[in-house]
Amino acid sequence: MAENTGRYNRQLPILGADGQRKLRSSKILIAGVGGLGSAVSIYLAAAGVGRLIIVDSDTVKLSDLNRQILYSWRDIGRKKVVVAKERLRGLNPEVDVVAIDTQITEENASKLIRDIDIVVDCLDNWRTRIILDKAICEEKKVLVHGGVEGLYGQVTVIVPYKTMCLRCLIGKPEEKEFIPVLGTTPGIIGLIEATEVIKLVTGVGQPLINKMLIYDGYSMEFNIVELKPTKECLDMCWG
Ligand SMILES: [Zn+2]
Repeated sequence: MAENTGRYNRQLPILGADGQRKLRSSKILIAGVGGLGSAVSIYLAAAGVGRLIIVDSDTVKLSDLNRQILYSWRDIGRKKVVVAKERLRGLNPEVDVVAIDTQITEENASKLIRDIDIVVDCLDNWRTRIILDKAICEEKKVLVHGGVEGLYGQVTVIVPYKTMCLRCLIGKPEEKEFIPVLGTTPGIIGLIEATEVIKLVTGVGQPLINKMLIYDGYSMEFNIVELKPTKECLDMCWG
């Protein structure tokens, strides 16, 4: 523990040695290392999460660089998970980073999250979110959901038997081919997701359980919408 005192010096008074140990023994899966996943993974690595499993099948493109702060122009054409692993290990070699170069599918989703403590939704499409959400219900996992568009974003925490699943909460939004986004939006929303992960692991504070945080960057307003799970979802989806 002595060698860790330096790196985590500023957060130890908040999390306590016990909280820091909990972070160190936690396994967090980050679904997608784009704009949201960049912010989430950098800060979770910096905070000392024990194992980060990053899942993405994309390569770095020039048009990613307005928001995907894990990558530089030199990385264009390289696999995101490979670059992300190098960057995160460079930031904090105490973190075990597992890079999985794949798309999340109905076939692999449950297996991917089986041994995970918390799954972080950093995806950019609803088709994959719905696949992930079904696996979350099957494996009874906690999901930190985040979504962005333009200067808008949202965050909520999905907990088995306590909250509605993501499908019942959001329904089936229309899939868009091209989602405009200001680079700062996934930064802001991703850091709120990372904060929720740290709180859930360490027990500090009150996570956004049955609450949806809505961010409006035009008016710079953050609103909380209170949510109530339906009996149907609790009985049927969580089964
Ligand atoms: Zn449901």
